[in-house]
Amino acid sequence: MEARLNQMELFPTEQDPRPPESVSWNLWHGCTKVSEGCRHCYMFRRDEAVGRDPAVVTKTQSYSLPIRILRAGEHRGRYKIPSGSCFYTCFSSDFFHPAADGWRPEAWDMMRTRADCTFFFITKRPERIAGALPPDWEDGWEHVTIAVTCENQAMADRRLPVYLALPLCRRSVMIEPMLSRMDLRRYLETGRIAEVSVGGESGPDARICDFDWVLDVRRQCVEYGVGFSYHQTGAKLLKDGRLYEIPRSRQHEQAKKAGLDVPGTRSRFVLHGDMPGE
Ligand code: SF4
Repeated sequence: MEARLNQMELFPTEQDPRPPESVSWNLWHGCTKVSEGCRHCYMFRRDEAVGRDPAVVTKTQSYSLPIRILRAGEHRGRYKIPSGSCFYTCFSSDFFHPAADGWRPEAWDMMRTRADCTFFFITKRPERIAGALPPDWEDGWEHVTIAVTCENQAMADRRLPVYLALPLCRRSVMIEPMLSRMDLRRYLETGRIAEVSVGGESGPDARICDFDWVLDVRRQCVEYGVGFSYHQTGAKLLKDGRLYEIPRSRQHEQAKKAGLDVPGTRSRFVLHGDMPGE
């Protein structure tokens, strides 16, 4: 039978001796498509391959991961995820999807409780953020970064004005999958964007990403002193007039080999793994 924990064991007071981790926290799963960037959403691809309806949003088994407590072992009584860890959140849904409105307050509670960790998530629904923030959000929580993703100029022009007006400690823009040349100067010049990360599209039907588009956005970021990261090439990269087909396993590595990353003065996150829309 499971042993009962006393109060001392539940809340150890000495510093957590374990190293911090980078963990995925997919607290709900399922989504609905909102724009061109969603066309080849990897979550849809994977769900449909196993006969599951990707448009049905459900809580996952890892919903309460940040506040789970170890019940046995050397670190019994501590949180399962060590202090200082980074949670990469909601990569098989959208944190601001309307179907999750009833669960989100509890998700904020968990993030508030784990202010000793950081949380990072990306949305294509910035217009829903203002009405979905917790009551004590004020100018933003330092340990929570909400990034917005824009796949082309039209979505940048629709989403960035809304996003830049939000109370956020830190603003990060993802251009992924990059589907067009983009002019971000009027948004970068506000000084409100800390970093921009660019990537191509993955998967069997991936659309082409032109390396010139990537270099162009990088030039704009350098011009305005904004951090830039070339996250991954995507499966089809057009470079110097030649189309390269790049296997999934090499897309991150090839992008890093391009050596384009420019750390912003305030840059702090490192992206990894698959993201929605890849
Ligand atoms: S790409 Fe993102 S927003 Fe679009 S359907 Fe997939 S999870 Fe939802």
